[in-house]
Amino acid sequence: MRVSFDLDEVIFVSPANHKTEPELRFSLNKIYQERVRYGTPYLINELQKQGFEVWVYTSSFRSERYIKHLFRHYGIKFDGIVNGQRHEREVQGSKPQRMPTKLPTYYHISLHIDDEAVVVTYGKTYGFDVFQLDAQDDEWAEKIIARAHQVKRKLELTGRL
Ligand SMILES: [Mg+2]
Repeated sequence: MRVSFDLDEVIFVSPANHKTEPELRFSLNKIYQERVRYGTPYLINELQKQGFEVWVYTSSFRSERYIKHLFRHYGIKFDGIVNGQRHEREVQGSKPQRMPTKLPTYYHISLHIDDEAVVVTYGKTYGFDVFQLDAQDDEWAEKIIARAHQVKRKLELTGRL
């Protein structure tokens, strides 16, 4: 089963009001200035160890290469990356109607983690699960792992996995 994470305000957070991983060493910290939510390497690696595929799904226009390289320095290797460009190209494409800003089901993603309430409403409309996360939460990793297993069980019970 696939799980995806938004970047801004979910993985990339402000150290002013969130616990963060240590900065990368000089001069990597000049290239990659984003600060990563505390516990991100543990959570992503643990989900993968437990058999989940973990993707990035961001509306930002950071390149796939930038995202891949940044996370490599934290010991994280995502299974897939959807950025703003890819979403525009593949999800929106030439469709005349405006598509939602994120559509995880297009990529067979069953659970998406995001800070935005509008994405929660997309989930209800388009049939994917959303875990909403924004503020500092010391138990975020445990909660997301538990939610991933819950979604997986639901899909198995309804024969969709
Ligand atoms: Mg966000």
